[in-house]
Amino acid sequence: MSLVLPLRLLLLGAPGSGKGTQTSRLLKRFSNLHSLSSGDILRAQIAAKSEVGNKAAEFIKNGKLVPDSTMVELINTELELRGWLNEASSWILDGFPRTRTQAEALRKVLIPRKATVNMVVELDVDQNVILERIEARWVHVPSGRVYNLDYNPPKVPFKDDITGEPLTKRSDDTAEVFQKRLDQYNLELGPLKEFYRDLGVLHRVSGNTSDTIYPKLERLILEKDKKNDI
Ligand code: AMP
Repeated sequence: MSLVLPLRLLLLGAPGSGKGTQTSRLLKRFSNLHSLSSGDILRAQIAAKSEVGNKAAEFIKNGKLVPDSTMVELINTELELRGWLNEASSWILDGFPRTRTQAEALRKVLIPRKATVNMVVELDVDQNVILERIEARWVHVPSGRVYNLDYNPPKVPFKDDITGEPLTKRSDDTAEVFQKRLDQYNLELGPLKEFYRDLGVLHRVSGNTSDTIYPKLERLILEKDKKNDI
């Protein structure tokens, strides 16, 4: 089905909270939605050995955030290239913005185009549960498809379901780096939420599996769409 009104949605959530999984499900459900994942864009830059990619790799390896100026430029360029900077486009951003500075920059680039982010949803997942399952996460880098050996295994072990290409482990999914990424997320979350709460667009859905979170997220979107206020 298609949404009636444009939806510009941000998913906030700790690393490993399932932002990518929720995004894939929403794309399957709503035909006029598109998505962009900042992590996937960075990994593509790293694989291409671009200047930005080489710089970003150092930060990512250490569980640190890539500097705001680099991220804002990268995402703005991508939004422009895709023709999404207008009031009619519907999209989901997964992993951007991650800081209040990035959120302010995104707002600044959208306002002259008469567009705004009209829904922000925090995916609230118990961080102990995330830590337990992160070691089992494998990814297909070219597509960003994510598998979990326990909950969502590939049909053929360690191979992508669609292309048959090998899956890899993200180098930043080790216990040590992952804890740093969680700490960083917890540090930035407060100011980011405050920014969107003040704009009246912040929501939260809680649950420990993607299957419990997804229906709540979908319901939120459908309710908003029905009320014609997004
Ligand atoms: P993700 O795939 O979303 O978990 O992102 C992987 C890594 O890329 C993060 O741990 C950060 O180092 C970096 N990254 C992704 N998005 C951003 C962002 N919006 N701001 C800063 N760093 C980011």
